[in-house]
Amino acid sequence: MSKFFVCTFGCRCNQADSDAIRESFCRRSMSEAETHLDAELVVVNSCTVTQRTDRQVRQMVRRIHRENPKARLVVTGCYAERDPQALAAMGGVSLVVGNAERERLQELIQNGACGATASIIRSPFSGGMAFLPPSAPATGGKTRPLIKLQDGCDARCSYCIVPFVRGPARSAHPDAVIAGIERLVGAGYREIVLTGVNLGSYGRKLDGFPTLLDLLRRVLSVPGPGRLRLSSIEPMRFSRGVARLAAEDPRLPPHFHIPLQSGSDRILRRMRRPYTADRFLDLAGYIREILPDAGIGSDVMVGFPGERDDDFDKTFELVQRSPLTYLHVFPFSARDGTAAAAMTEHVPEVVVRERVRIMRELSQAKNLEFRRRFVGRSLPGITLAKEEGVGDAVVLTENYIAARVPKPVEPNRLVTVRIIEAHPDYTRAEIQLG
Ligand code: SF4
Repeated sequence: MSKFFVCTFGCRCNQADSDAIRESFCRRSMSEAETHLDAELVVVNSCTVTQRTDRQVRQMVRRIHRENPKARLVVTGCYAERDPQALAAMGGVSLVVGNAERERLQELIQNGACGATASIIRSPFSGGMAFLPPSAPATGGKTRPLIKLQDGCDARCSYCIVPFVRGPARSAHPDAVIAGIERLVGAGYREIVLTGVNLGSYGRKLDGFPTLLDLLRRVLSVPGPGRLRLSSIEPMRFSRGVARLAAEDPRLPPHFHIPLQSGSDRILRRMRRPYTADRFLDLAGYIREILPDAGIGSDVMVGFPGERDDDFDKTFELVQRSPLTYLHVFPFSARDGTAAAAMTEHVPEVVVRERVRIMRELSQAKNLEFRRRFVGRSLPGITLAKEEGVGDAVVLTENYIAARVPKPVEPNRLVTVRIIEAHPDYTRAEIQLG
């Protein structure tokens, strides 16, 4: 039985795509190797969201070829979609497959597409979306498997390369999604993460235009699933009904991630983000009002071309007075082909670094303030496997606090923890029930 290894870069969608690749190989009785060192076939599922990720992907391709020169080396994913020639020219690469063809990767390899010299297989995106939810062996050991129910994006935020490498927005049919969830629930998973490139635009091109809220109501009408966690939802696509549903049904955890990007309306317009800072604050405030204990995360980009001190101050002040509980902070990275890449008013790197540092510090302060609210209180959570990269004694609470418990725990158990301590770097808890 030949061995394969999948190396994944980037977002949850890419991780879900890697699970689908694993699934397709496992169905062909291939087995997953522990590392790339003892695999006959290595697939790099790449990301291209920043120049830095491009560099990391190239470094990994070189490393795999150096450390396992006999392996057939295939590169797919967003970098392969954006610049296949650059990857095909790298030593050891035998096949580069674009995102529209990724779903056929196993079949392409079986039909001999991996030759002595690198070949490129890439095609335009079709409107449909292949949907291959993972079964147990293909989840890469994750406690909380991913279900990607939407791909692509029709928006054109001026800094974003995603629509160019993932194609137009498309969604999996609700019946297929429900079947995928039922199969994972049947396999014993207690929490499933629903993901997509623009999750909030789910269903816009399906018959009957089912929304994400419609889908969630249908899924939650089926008895059984422990918990359905939602990954990032763009503010312009966030339905308040989803927050109300979370207030009604504990199986939809009070945790949302809603990208803000900037607190300056002037910069939001330059980013082509169709909302204002006030509208974002109003949405976050609404969630806090109906879900007082909710974890509310966000993405903030600093150093966008033309970002002045007062723009940055507006972002800082908005986040400071908002109910946000943590941030992912990104420095602007120009991506060829995007509108922002052609903008000239670049912010000096030293200023960008300082703004990243300030926003990350603010995020830590907001998060500590949030976690301290729960000291002495009990919260529902799920025990995580060490494969999640957080150690073997961690419980993830429903509102997205990773709490350390005294001793290693069996993963994938729904438990209740009492929060004992909120330290700047960690949270301590004890398991009460479950
Ligand atoms: S909504 Fe904007 S940021 Fe999000 S994937 Fe689409 S273009 Fe990119």
